[in-house]
Amino acid sequence: MAVIKKAVATAMAIFMAVYGFFGMTGNVSDDYTEGKYKNVILMIGDGMGFNTIEATKAQKGVSMAMETMPVKAQSQIFSFLIPATDSAAGGTALATGCRVWINSVGLFPFDPFTINDFNVPINLCELAKRDGMAAGVVTTDKTSGATPSSFSAHALSRTMEENISADQLSSELDLIWGGASASVNKENAAENGFTYISTETEMDALKAGSRSFGQFSYSDLYNYRDDNDTPRIAEMTEKAIELLSADEDGFFLMVEGACIDKFSHNNEFEGATMSTIEFDKAVKAALDFAEEDGETLVIVTADHETGGIKQNKKTGEFYYTSGEHTSVDVPVFVSAEDAGFKSGDKVKNREIPVQIARVLGFEKNEFPAAR
Ligand SMILES: [Zn+2]
Repeated sequence: MAVIKKAVATAMAIFMAVYGFFGMTGNVSDDYTEGKYKNVILMIGDGMGFNTIEATKAQKGVSMAMETMPVKAQSQIFSFLIPATDSAAGGTALATGCRVWINSVGLFPFDPFTINDFNVPINLCELAKRDGMAAGVVTTDKTSGATPSSFSAHALSRTMEENISADQLSSELDLIWGGASASVNKENAAENGFTYISTETEMDALKAGSRSFGQFSYSDLYNYRDDNDTPRIAEMTEKAIELLSADEDGFFLMVEGACIDKFSHNNEFEGATMSTIEFDKAVKAALDFAEEDGETLVIVTADHETGGIKQNKKTGEFYYTSGEHTSVDVPVFVSAEDAGFKSGDKVKNREIPVQIARVLGFEKNEFPAAR
């Protein structure tokens, strides 16, 4: 056994050295204003590529708040070893700074740092809580979905809903809001110190200092209607910011617009563009807060593009070329020019959380790191 372990360790060390050479050199600049940002809001448009935004503007005749952000860069979305990803590996790269296998949530079978089997990297929410900050996750997916899970749980597969919900319930997060998940209920939420909410009225009534588990109607979140008591993503974002910003030590918030991906899997432009507009309203809410607050950085990106949206050069029309995720680079918009990101940069997805940690004042040895 010892011999095998040593052989595996040696192979991994060689592999990591090679991988480090080709895959781990950073593109995010060390040039950022230290200590300026107390809060970071990371907004993930699931499946939102550059052409998703272009198609939305062309088909709906709208402009995008996210495009008013001063830094426009792009992110390479690869998962561990391969030039493709899903929302689990994509979310995990953005949450932990580690590229893991597709389907894994916050968990890496081979630790690139200490070579332990099934290493568990710390995510940005855990890092923030460890430092006394507030942290939250908001999504239009189910709370056990791959993207919110990456920021609040650790599981070998995104399909392990019970394990994911159990992790979220035992986490220290201040709020976890999204579509209802079968494994979360009033009782287990209360046992773990969360106020269970399922309507917009209940959300609005929350006071700073509370911890809450939001289990809203998933079909309402998906359909963005106003004739129900379910909050829309911009309303959730505003309320989450109100609650988290009461913490004097700062906060980290992840907001996911999940439905862009879901509609694009079905090649439904109407739903995908409407979802992009809904997500952009949440971005607007975050940008408005950041402008007023002066100590908040907003980053908008995607985990991957979905649908391979292309434009016909002659007619100007947009069309889908796939029902799957593609490996094209995705947008990275940043609300300020002094956070280490520069327009035109091409960064790797896993560099984004590393830079978020730096901006929030964490040392290089604190992130990425084992949990
Ligand atoms: Zn997808």
